[in-house]
Amino acid sequence: MRDLSSPIERGVKCSKCERGAVARVKYAKLNLCEDHFKEYVEKRFVEFLEKRKVLEGVRKVVVAVSGGKDSLSLLHMLAKYKDKLGLEEIYGIHIDLGLGASSEEAREVVLENCEKLGVKCLVLDLRSLIGYSLAELSAISRRPPCSVCGTVKRYLANLVAVELGADAIAFGHHLDDILKYAIKDLLVEGRADMIKLSPVSEGIRGLLASKIKPLYEIYESDLELYARHAGIRTVKSSCPFKYEDFITRSIREMLDKIELEAPGFKLGLIRRLTTSWREGPPAGVASCKYCGMPSSGEVCSFCKITARAVGKPLGPEARAKVRELVGAFAARGSA
Ligand code: SF4
Ligand code: ZN
Ligand code: ZN
Repeated sequence: MRDLSSPIERGVKCSKCERGAVARVKYAKLNLCEDHFKEYVEKRFVEFLEKRKVLEGVRKVVVAVSGGKDSLSLLHMLAKYKDKLGLEEIYGIHIDLGLGASSEEAREVVLENCEKLGVKCLVLDLRSLIGYSLAELSAISRRPPCSVCGTVKRYLANLVAVELGADAIAFGHHLDDILKYAIKDLLVEGRADMIKLSPVSEGIRGLLASKIKPLYEIYESDLELYARHAGIRTVKSSCPFKYEDFITRSIREMLDKIELEAPGFKLGLIRRLTTSWREGPPAGVASCKYCGMPSSGEVCSFCKITARAVGKPLGPEARAKVRELVGAFAARGSA
């Protein structure tokens, strides 16, 4: 636990009732018991979505679930407030990257949570879809695993959302991650206009699903405590490729240090940096000449990576299989 909402020493009372506090929420100057802490996080979550109209026009949402505390807390809160938020259908999508024990655990944890919540979940197995695990695809394409992973996950999540006719894909990115990567972009690219933050990126119907970030103003430390106190089972093992480079770590540590001295700093900063609460569809989106999915040039990143790795673009194959799986999933309710 790094900063804000930290577990608290025994004997401190909740600011809202007589029970013992389990968390100190420094930026709100509150000590909260388990129930009041969960209620507080959920209230902030719902209020943000309503105030910023994040779910405007969204009835059917696909949640990208990895098995970690962020995406699972997101799924739990969306499921709990489904009616209040005007959602009609929530689907989970999980991508099994074929990374041995960590992938097996993630799949099991995701399915268990979805079943508990009554959320239909579609698991896509990368090996069954294209014949390669993430590690194999990364090695033969000679591209860093996390970069290949990002491309694969974005591509497949979009495919599923488009095939399901969903209004948006929800991602579990929280305040700390969003800020950290925005500042990294600025430092590495050296352009102030690299920071373009928004919790909603509109899509293009039938091609590119809208992307939403409902945890945009939720601190990572709040999510860690929330998942624990809400009894959410999350993955214990981590991805074998998990790695934080020096620049990212330095930015995280700097932001944490400032937050420690000035609680609420990160929240204020993300609000100041947000250029729009709803970004329009990206300009210049074309259709990949192989698979027909969104692309900034003639060929989409997924087809490029797979063509580089195996000599032919695997987008068309993956798309046909996903279409089949989604059809069966929609008819059956789970896959
Ligand atoms: Fe993907 Fe693992 Fe990298 Fe995360 S750490 S982006 S799961 S390869
Ligand atoms: Zn209380
Ligand atoms: Zn393609």
